[in-house]
Amino acid sequence: MDIQKFVKPNIRSLRAYHAEEIPCKVKLDANESPYSAISNQRSAISLEKNLQTLNRYPDPQATSLRKLMAKEFRVKPQNVLHGNGSDELIYYLITTFGGPVLYPVPTFSRYGIISQALDEKKIEIPLDKDFDIDIEKTMTSIKKYRPKLIFLSSPNNPTGNCFTSDKILKIIKTTSFSKQGRGDSRISSLVVVDEAYQSFSNEKSFMPLLDKYRNLIILNTLSKIGLAGLRLGFLIANEEIINEVNKVRLPFNVNSISQAVAIEALKNKKKLRSYITSIISERKRLFREMEKIDGITPYPSDANFILFRAADAVGVYKRLLEKGVLIRNMTRVIENCLRVTVGTPGENTVFLKTLKQVL
Ligand code: PMP
Repeated sequence: MDIQKFVKPNIRSLRAYHAEEIPCKVKLDANESPYSAISNQRSAISLEKNLQTLNRYPDPQATSLRKLMAKEFRVKPQNVLHGNGSDELIYYLITTFGGPVLYPVPTFSRYGIISQALDEKKIEIPLDKDFDIDIEKTMTSIKKYRPKLIFLSSPNNPTGNCFTSDKILKIIKTTSFSKQGRGDSRISSLVVVDEAYQSFSNEKSFMPLLDKYRNLIILNTLSKIGLAGLRLGFLIANEEIINEVNKVRLPFNVNSISQAVAIEALKNKKKLRSYITSIISERKRLFREMEKIDGITPYPSDANFILFRAADAVGVYKRLLEKGVLIRNMTRVIENCLRVTVGTPGENTVFLKTLKQVL
């Protein structure tokens, strides 16, 4: 039997996510935090308590966690929707609203993969030479294709930079409900600003604009601040949007252990803040040191990783791995480019030393 015949054409050409565990000494490939945000004692007590009730389904509304996150984001709990990682929320958004889906490239690959999995039209607009939004081309495509959803990852993965705020704002404004208009029909696109890396950036979050622009949606995640294993992401938007997306959300998408452990971890704000501060200062040191190395060009970053160019990027990637340092090969996405995640000071020093050796 030829299974391929049964697979939908849009799925046939997709490739499964490559989750191979590559053995290494220093793991700097996945934009994770090098620090676990779990404060052992409190989380252990909470974990123990929740283990006793694993025969029960989790709270489908994640009430306590959403309340806590709402406080954090300075919005109401009804403006927050929880996901099993923010990538699940990307799935839900495209399932709910459909395409065309517009986004600049290169960017986070999941916007395109999920659009294809759901058989929705993708509109990819190349970034300009500074990895910023090409606003003319974007505006022309918005008018031409009238995308339902626009995804803007700022800071952008894998380039690391924030897009110019005025450009993002222009996109939100021109696609938004206008007070002079006659209701929601004036919204031409929903704009999703993916702020997965916002905590490492000096640029302001778009969160305060949620009241003003009803077509604005923000995505956030706990994955980059030390809780990637819990799989917790959040969608923040006006209630009407939340209510629609909530229709497609699987009722028990976030398990009870993740809900409980995250609540404990998020109480320890001082610790979380200190990890972020350390990552930002290490990113600055890494960038300064990488700038001094002949044969590579690092790009400035507002995130917890640095993209850099090297003449023989694949060779550099392989030789680093031979010496136990795993980074991400981005050459399929940006010519001659590699991406390194900021690790602990010790890990970054090993990376720098090994990089100099292999070059
Ligand atoms: N958005 C961006 C821009 C990302 O880089 C990532 C993770 N690499 C995600 C969303 C997904 O994060 P998670 O599903 O772990 O919340």
